[in-house]
Amino acid sequence: MAAKHIILLGPPGAGKGTQAKRLEEARGMVQLSTGDMLREAKSSGTEMGKRVAAVMERGELVTDEIVIGLIEEKLAQPRPERFGGFIFDGFPRTLKQADALGELMVRKGQSLHAVIEMQVDDAALVARITGRFTCGNCGAVYHDVTKPTKVEGTCDVCGGHDMKRRADDTEQALKTRLMEYYKKTSPLIGYYYAKGNLCAVDGLAEMGAVAADISKVLDRP
Ligand code: ADP
Ligand code: ZN
Repeated sequence: MAAKHIILLGPPGAGKGTQAKRLEEARGMVQLSTGDMLREAKSSGTEMGKRVAAVMERGELVTDEIVIGLIEEKLAQPRPERFGGFIFDGFPRTLKQADALGELMVRKGQSLHAVIEMQVDDAALVARITGRFTCGNCGAVYHDVTKPTKVEGTCDVCGGHDMKRRADDTEQALKTRLMEYYKKTSPLIGYYYAKGNLCAVDGLAEMGAVAADISKVLDRP
């Protein structure tokens, strides 16, 4: 089966990462999350990582050049044997990034199967994000109110005790992230609609239902 590349588009907290992880397991797709790449650069202490740390902590976007460079690098790497396609998660976030991705795809003789807009309302986002924490060992995601660990401070999955909260999951940074989304990223909805490959799914539905909606999009020719 030919690889199908998709973009998951939606505000912070829409569940892009969660769905991307499911698609990796279910379909051998490869998640390309610029947020994860930047956090990795930050924690491994590279020059670039140091430069972007404060910007990210405030919830602002880092420069287009940096993220386009990261994506270019990843697209050049060898693909796994069973390769279902790329999931662009958190990229593109600006019109300039969208144009750059379009050019990269053309250059590689590839195309986007679909751009999936995950629709959620703002009140739900704020509630989802402020309260979110993850296991530093295995990456399992929890929430203070909706999905606490069974034993406080202990991961249900791996038994780890190293719970982490993202530096930009605070109320103030979240406000900035939402504002950045509406100012710079939401115009991409119109952009991809005009290109003809936009589809919307209800991001507030139960996790499995969202996954099923995305699967339907992937299964069509
Ligand atoms: P979110 O949960 O807000 O969707 P991400 O993990 O995707 O967050 O990204 C976290 C931060 O990393 C962003 O707030 C921004 O500072 C930076 N970032 C990630 N991707 C991009 C991008 N494509 N362009 C610019 N900045 C980005
Ligand atoms: Zn764990």
